[in-house]
Amino acid sequence: MRRGRLTRTTTAMRVESSSAERERALKLRDEIKRVIEYRSFYLRYCPNAHLSGGRLQTLCPIPAHAHSGTGQPGLSIDLTRGLFHCFSRDEGGDAIRFYELMHEVKFSRAVGELACELGLAGRGRRGGGGDGHALALRAAPDEAATEQEAEREPLSSERLNHVCEKFLATCRAEDQAEGFNYLARRGIDGGTARRAGIVYFPRRAYRRVMCRMQKAFAPEELRRSGLFNARARLTFYRHRLLFPFRVEGRAVYLQARTTAAGVEPRWHNLKGGVPSLYNVDVLDELASGSVVYLVEGFTDTLTLSAHNFAAVGLVGAGGLKPEWLAPLGRFRVVVALDPDAAGQRAAERYGELFAARGLTLSRISLPVDVNDFFRHRPAAALEFALLTEAATEGMRDEG
Ligand SMILES: [Zn+2]
Repeated sequence: MRRGRLTRTTTAMRVESSSAERERALKLRDEIKRVIEYRSFYLRYCPNAHLSGGRLQTLCPIPAHAHSGTGQPGLSIDLTRGLFHCFSRDEGGDAIRFYELMHEVKFSRAVGELACELGLAGRGRRGGGGDGHALALRAAPDEAATEQEAEREPLSSERLNHVCEKFLATCRAEDQAEGFNYLARRGIDGGTARRAGIVYFPRRAYRRVMCRMQKAFAPEELRRSGLFNARARLTFYRHRLLFPFRVEGRAVYLQARTTAAGVEPRWHNLKGGVPSLYNVDVLDELASGSVVYLVEGFTDTLTLSAHNFAAVGLVGAGGLKPEWLAPLGRFRVVVALDPDAAGQRAAERYGELFAARGLTLSRISLPVDVNDFFRHRPAAALEFALLTEAATEGMRDEG
């Protein structure tokens, strides 16, 4: 097999043993990357991960991160390239780095153990081909072909925009009642939902919607958008409440939520990363110096919208990208994240991020998330306004 290549260290006899070891580890790393099957590798650590368009989304299991274990998935894994990224801690890397973090070992040991599992370790290897794990982690030929296919360039934002808009329009033509009732039960009225462009995809319309999309776009485009899978089926079937991300009035991305109890994961999305703050278009209509809330998730964003507070949303507490700060600069920004450890850490980090740009970030700490706060307190809007006033006191003078 490939072992010959690995042991052919040729004339390295004089090379310092440490650097030779390093070189060997690097070679082994490349070999690992060539044969590993990322999907089974990552699923071993994240068995509840949600697969969508070549990515796994899951709660981050890295022990040293000490996440609360609740909230939205904070770990995203690109199965094509084998890379992971934890948004809460802004830490990422390849499968070997992931192994290091999960087992709390150094690089050389991670490489050694993985190589062994994959049946790659040269001398002194154990198990060999009889090891179930080795077989489980190795890429089968047909999977390699699928990977190649997934490696194709993602759709241009222009084409993704067309796919999004068409999918939304097609679903919007179906009966929306079920979805809007679901939102109403969570305190989000129909007007707010419509303004946010939320659309429901009823189960009984599955075939019809699928056919209309197939008529409008080439199979390859549908696949590359993440809307369809490799078997030419719509991937949005368990997650029917569609939340568009709109920039300058155009839907550039979609995330969908399940409305059924007990479905995990609760979210499904198109390929590619989250392109903007959720509801970022609200900023266009807003006077400079206005208060804007930075919250976690669609529900909290829309809850505030429903009560006439301007809010933009993050996907996961740690989801803020530095390039999104500029458009917030002319507002008084108040962060109100979930009262869990991830939310608190993120709020602190954002405070520093804003300060580094000479901006002030005020912070409101609620005992529960924003939606719960508004659902269970009759005078929530007034309380929230008072908390805002206290949090932003002095901000006006500073500006
Ligand atoms: Zn993490």
